[in-house]
Amino acid sequence: MGGYRNRGGEIGHMILHKDGKRCGCGANGCFEAYASTRALLEQYQNSSPDNAPVSGEMIVQKFLDAETIAVNVMEQHFDYMATGIAGLVNIFSPQRVIIGGGISEAGDFYISQIAQRVKAIAIPVAHEFTQIVPALLGNKAGLLGCASKVFEKMISNC
Ligand SMILES: [Zn+2]
Repeated sequence: MGGYRNRGGEIGHMILHKDGKRCGCGANGCFEAYASTRALLEQYQNSSPDNAPVSGEMIVQKFLDAETIAVNVMEQHFDYMATGIAGLVNIFSPQRVIIGGGISEAGDFYISQIAQRVKAIAIPVAHEFTQIVPALLGNKAGLLGCASKVFEKMISNC
């Protein structure tokens, strides 16, 4: 899914809001600028009266303890994740969407919150056979994904 001359495939830079938050890639309103763990941490810090730095684990714990700010920012985070994923489901109708890295290892509730929201907004026929699952390898999944891409390339060049 790299596109012509491998210049595409930037799922994180799918634009959700054209005049939205500035993204590290130089564009505005990218999926990543809203749905990443970094965005969640910023959102929490900006909403918190003392602006104290927090970690993903802290926000998850506060969310589970029903702290208002944590609940609000996590609800937004789930909605952003679901919006981006539902768009991809509508286009590709994948059998699996694998979510890994960042705070996705927080627990089953994390994947289930996103899965419910994707189901609610994706086109039913596109979503019918889609499962949303956690990456079993956790944070290593991204790295191994890169390695397998490299192997794929080596094999296809033989
Ligand atoms: Zn971007």
